[in-house]
Amino acid sequence: MATVNTVTGPVDTADFGFTLSHEHVGTNAAGLRHTYPQFIDREGIKEQSTAAMKAVYEDGVRTIIDVSTFDLGRDVNLIREVAEGSGMQVVVATGNHLAVPRPFGEVSPDAIAPLYIKEIEEGIEGTGIKAGIIKVASDRGGITPQQEIVLRAAARTQKASGVPISTHTWSPERIGDAQVAILEEEGVDLDRVYIGHSNDDTNLEYLLGLLNKGVWLGLDRYPGGLVPGTPNWEQRTQVAWQLIEAGFAHRIMLSHDYSVPKARYGAEVQEARRWANPDGYNFIPRHVLPRLKELGATDANIHQLTVENPRRFFEGE
Ligand SMILES: [Zn+2]
Repeated sequence: MATVNTVTGPVDTADFGFTLSHEHVGTNAAGLRHTYPQFIDREGIKEQSTAAMKAVYEDGVRTIIDVSTFDLGRDVNLIREVAEGSGMQVVVATGNHLAVPRPFGEVSPDAIAPLYIKEIEEGIEGTGIKAGIIKVASDRGGITPQQEIVLRAAARTQKASGVPISTHTWSPERIGDAQVAILEEEGVDLDRVYIGHSNDDTNLEYLLGLLNKGVWLGLDRYPGGLVPGTPNWEQRTQVAWQLIEAGFAHRIMLSHDYSVPKARYGAEVQEARRWANPDGYNFIPRHVLPRLKELGATDANIHQLTVENPRRFFEGE
């Protein structure tokens, strides 16, 4: 039992219920909503996101982890409005995505960790809304020097606050391994680490290696199809099943990395996203869970992936 901060206040992990482990209400860039707010359709995002969350609430989801950081234009007031309008419990993040601010590249991780800790302990941007997870990101080509500084800052924040870490990776290049190496060097308990986007590839040796290290895995890009050459949703579901068969049903979580079409800017991109996933946050309950059961997953397995694992990840073991 533990208490986790959501945008609408602290929630007991026992009340998390069916949880989607990696999603977004809206993503853009640092400073955009202050300087060029007209570029962002805030009302449109709010309307579509509230409807999308209500729809997935109907399918049983009770908690969403929104891992948008400030360099993704995180708007915690908007997220709170969507949570209040839909009844969804939404956890928000501190940390950094890929666009590390230039000045962060010139300082020690110890100069950054207190910024993250303040967002966990006091709240974000004076709202009193507290972060419940630490997000950190690396992608194709490996961890840049700037990303390494914030990764180490995330590690130190985790150790100081007890709040878990959720990462963005590029699994075809096994970027999770590089993140784990640095987090281990920092002395982070790998039970408090979730390696995300681990279903953009089907390399089981890589995934089992990570699981054997003791991290949690996020199979959190569904249905896929936006990045050419990455697995389709059936292949992604086969990987989930293989990991369950390998005895890791207690260490994996499912999510979409979804945001509503209006969270994007050009009409064409919005259309492409609508086409890529017409089910939004409902894709997993509507398609993935029934398919996993066809493959042989038990109701107990499904409950582990969707309810017990997110709860245990936040509680720490
Ligand atoms: Zn994401």
